[in-house]
This record gives sequence, C-alpha cells and structure tokens, in this order.
Amino acid sequence: MALPRLLRLLPRALPPLAGALARPACGRALHRAAPAPALAAPARKEFIIFIQDFNSFVTRTNTCGELRSAHVGQEVTLYGWIQYQRQGLFLVLRDFQGLTQIIIPRDEAHSHVKKLLSNAPVESVVRVTGIVSPRPPGQENPKMPTGDIEVKVKTAEILNSCKKLPFEIKDFIKKSEALRMQYRYLDLRSFQLQYNLRLRSQIVMRMREYLCNLHGFVDVETPTLFKRTPGGAKEFLVPSREAGKFYSLPQSPQQFKQLLMVGGLDRYFQVARCYRDEGSRPDRQPEFTQIDIEMSFVDQAGIQRLIEGLLQYSWPEERGCITTPFPSMTYEEALADYGTDKPDTRFGMKIVDISDFLRRSDIQFVQNALSYPRGTVRAICIPQGVRYLKNKDLESLKESAKSQFNQEIMEIICRPDGSLKSLVTKFLGQKQQSELTQVLNMQVDDVVLLAAGEHKQVCSALGSLRLESADLLEAAGLVLRDPMTFHFLWVVDFPLFLPKEENPTELESAHHPFTAPHPSDTSLLYSDPTKVRSQHYDLVLNGSEVGGGSIRIHSAEQQRFVLEKVLKEDSEVLSHLLEALEFGAPPHGGIALGLDRLISLIVDAPSIRDVIAFPKSFRGRDLMGNAPDYVTPEELEPYHIQVSWPLAEKEAKQN
Ligand code: ASP
Repeated sequence: MALPRLLRLLPRALPPLAGALARPACGRALHRAAPAPALAAPARKEFIIFIQDFNSFVTRTNTCGELRSAHVGQEVTLYGWIQYQRQGLFLVLRDFQGLTQIIIPRDEAHSHVKKLLSNAPVESVVRVTGIVSPRPPGQENPKMPTGDIEVKVKTAEILNSCKKLPFEIKDFIKKSEALRMQYRYLDLRSFQLQYNLRLRSQIVMRMREYLCNLHGFVDVETPTLFKRTPGGAKEFLVPSREAGKFYSLPQSPQQFKQLLMVGGLDRYFQVARCYRDEGSRPDRQPEFTQIDIEMSFVDQAGIQRLIEGLLQYSWPEERGCITTPFPSMTYEEALADYGTDKPDTRFGMKIVDISDFLRRSDIQFVQNALSYPRGTVRAICIPQGVRYLKNKDLESLKESAKSQFNQEIMEIICRPDGSLKSLVTKFLGQKQQSELTQVLNMQVDDVVLLAAGEHKQVCSALGSLRLESADLLEAAGLVLRDPMTFHFLWVVDFPLFLPKEENPTELESAHHPFTAPHPSDTSLLYSDPTKVRSQHYDLVLNGSEVGGGSIRIHSAEQQRFVLEKVLKEDSEVLSHLLEALEFGAPPHGGIALGLDRLISLIVDAPSIRDVIAFPKSFRGRDLMGNAPDYVTPEELEPYHIQVSWPLAEKEAKQN
C-alpha cells in the first residue's frame, strides 16, 4: 500500500491556517494512517491533510510541494506551471501543493533543456525529470517547505506554452475583482483560492462523515425544477414548453425535505444548491450552497446539539477549538443588547437602557420619547472614543443614524478630569452625572452615543452604530474583532410573524410559513398571531447568520390556518404539502447552514466569492462566460415567450 503523504497547502504568504482536517476537533483520535516517518513533524504550523496518494494513476512521481531532504538522490518526475524563471539557470515549478526549485545544469549536455526551459514563458505547463539534490550550504530557504532541496533537471518537456497573461498568478499582486472573475480559471491557480476550495472540500467531507456514517443521515438529492413557494425570497423562473407555465428554482429544498420526513426517511441531509433572485445585494449570490438537514421526532435542543457536534467534528484544528454547547440568546435580548438578530459577541459596547435613570430628568426630548408606548432611551459607550475617533468620524456616525434610521443621536464625552461634556449634562445635577457615568461604565476619554425614541428604531440604530464604531476603532489601530476568534451563538424565540415592511398591517413569516409556534404560545396563534413566538432558531457566527431552521408545523389544519388566515396566501399552491400532512406526517424539524458564508468566515475571506469556484458578480453576472446572455427569438419560440425590449435597448440593438 502506498505510504500516506502530507499535503501542505500553505505557502508562506498565507496566514498559518494549518488544519489537521482529517482529525476530529481538539484532540480526539485520528482514524487515519500515520504519515511517513521522514515527512512527519512539520517544522512549522501548516495546513496538513493526510492523503493516501496524490500520485496514483499519473506518471508524476511527486507533487511540487512534497520533496524533502529524505528524497535526495531519487530520480523524480514533476508536472507543474512555471512560477519563476531566472537567467536560464533555474526555475520554480508550481502545482496545487507547493513550489520546487529546478536547477538547469550549465554543461553542454544540458544545452537543449536549458534552451527549452529558458524560452518557455511563465505559467507554461512543463514536465521535468531530474535528480533531487541538497541545496548548496547557505542557499537553503527555510521559508519554503521544499527549501532544503532542488531538482537537477535531466529532461523536460513543454506541455503547453502560456501566452501573455492578463495578470500575474502571484497572491501578492493586486488585481481588480472583475478581471479575476473574467479569468477565473487563472485566479483559481492562486494558493489562496486553492487553499479555500480544498479546505471547503475537506470540511464538507467531514460533515458527510459525521452525518451519514456517525448519525445515520441519508444524502438525498431533491429537484431544482419546481414550482413557486409562497413567502420568502423571490425565485428564478424557468420557462416550460407548456404555454404560460413556468418552473421555479427552489430557494431551498424546504418542501422536499419535509416530504421526505412524511416518506419515512427519518434523517435527511444534502449539500443543496439554492437560488434566490434578490437582485444586487452585497456579498450575496443568486445561487449558493446550504448544508440542508431535516429530522423526524426531534425538538429544538436536538437540532442544536446535532449542529454543535457537526461543526466541532468538521472544524479545522488550526482555527482553534470551538466549545459547545454554543450560548443562546432570545431574539428580544439580541435586539435590546445588540440592536440586531445577529449580534457580534466578540466585543462589548452593548446597548445600555438608561430610560429609568433619565425618567426623573427635565430633558424635553427624553420625556417626549418616554411618553410613547415602547419609548426608550439607550446608549452605547465607545471606549477611548476621544483618542481614536476624529470629529468627522463622530459626525458621520450621527449622520448615518439619521439617514438610515431617522434617529437623532446625542454624544457625551468623558473629560480627563472625569467630568462629562454634553448637551444633556446641563440638565443633570453633579450627583446624577456621576451616576450616569457609573450606569454607562464610562472611563476617561470614552464617548457615549445616546438615542431616544421607539424601542426597535433606537436599538437598531445603536446596533448599527456599534458596528460602525468598531470599524472606525479598528481602522485607527485597535483590535476588537479577532478573525481567529469564533463566537457561535444561537438566537431563539423569534416572533413567528413580523409586519411586512411594505405594508405593516399585513404579516409575513419571520422564518418561513412552515415554522411551528412555540408550544406555550399555540393558543395565541388563533387570538393574537403578532404575539406568538416561534420554534425558529438562527445560528450566528461573529455577527453573521450562518444557519437557520425551525421545528415545523406537522398538522395540516394548523398549516392551513397559518397560510390562509394569517399570511393570506393561496394555500392551493401548497395543496400537495397540506395533503401530505394529513397522511400521518411525523413531527419534524431541521436547519440549513449557509456553507459559503461559513467557509468564508473560517478562512477570513473578504467575500463569499472567495470560497466559490465560479461566483457571480455583484450584479449576478458570470463575467467569464458572460451569462445571462441573449437568445434568439427562434430559441424562445418553444416556450411561447417574446421579449418586450425596453425602448433604449431596442434602439441600441437596431443600431
Ligand atoms: N429552508 C430554510 C432556509 O433555507 C432552513 C430551514 O428551515 O431548514 O432558510
């Protein structure tokens, strides 16, 4: 049997993400063969996966990241891309695993190889056969995993020459994202993207292992040509040959996974492709991937323990340990303390309720706010704000609260002598001022931002200012949110329904229409649906939602009531599901993890596009293949579709 080999993915330019992904998180047993002795004990932390054999089925003997002093004297054959080339004396060959230096002997016998290799453009693909030799003393490169050796070339072949590149394939060379996406296959050659995609693959493999092998889940593929689902995101339509009829691309396999439970599958999972036509939204993709899960006879706690176990099992070790159970917070607490349902709990600056404290004051705008139902006065304290924020920063914070939330903000500054500077302090006595300092835990040079008004508006504005202030403090040099720290959090007890943004007198589901009410609120469903809490749970990581799910309604009668009476939806569209619930549907629940977002947080990528092989642009376009694209009227004919061109485009096409 071939000896296991080490896969070292990380070049020195990358952060030390090294992950023994093959290992269960944090010190549990490794169910793999041990690495070959000569290659064990890497000198520094690297991303290491134990792979049985990278060189099976091909004629190379080794990869470009693999050779060490232990290989000295061996004749090897490598395949790779020319990364660097120097004066016809040596070149650096690159493949997915690393870099190897190739030396071209100066003697006459090698003049042919020298000519061949020194004329080959960078990024040409070559085969090189040669002898592994130690580098001359003093010329070792400790920063390169293969830095102790070089390969003395005997023969070489240019397999495909590379024409002039639109950009250099070097991680440190900056290039516009549009250009990277246009030549995505070239960008994929970068170590960073190679690393991201390989890490993603390993994590998914571990997830499959955990779900299918350890816990009996069944991987089932569900259709992507389906019909419209009421509520939720907008779906893409696909024309059919039946006049006027369209398929929809599902926003998630929600209905199918529930129907699989009715079908007795008991435990389902899928690495599911989902589609949402949400227009241009930053860091969203029209097609994306979820780890989609459903279970019968489970409650909220059961799903939460499953996900905690799943993430712990598939977590890359170099990203530290994740401890379980994850903390939990109610939706109301999240909104009150952080102003959002996806709090970033890596740092403090929580929202403080000072309504009771200021109730006794004579401040007019405070009294106005408190006279309304759900009126409140709250504040956040920016530590060392005086030192780290400029006046224009404070102005822009206030401006942003005004423009985004229509919320006025007042500031209070703690002077070096501990006294407070603010428009409100003149209404407060000395004692009240020092009490306020205590309530807000203000220190010298802190800045407090205060807001008075309706609860949700005030909290949302302060929650947003909390994040904006953190950005500003970090831009000024403070570290508040370490990307290597991972704070998972469950947010629970969401309201089942929320007022629709476009028409607040109507209700929509906070999660989706299949979510069950909280058991203690079921009767409210029929009397006051706005007060019902749900069995919906979101998983938040470092301030981003990375998963969401719910226990489902499994009674046809209750589901029909929700659709028809509360959401005012046409239940006919869902008659198949309603009927299925009448045929002995088991109680069930599930969740979906957003795989792209999760991986991007794990690798600290600036965008989810960096963990997707072929992502769409901000506007939903494939810049490489230029999709979406026009089709001819003849191609549209079988679908009974005619394009009604906007005038400007019609004219442009005619000219
Ligand atoms: N289908 C839901 C979603 O895509 C997740 C779930 O409820 O399981 O958000």
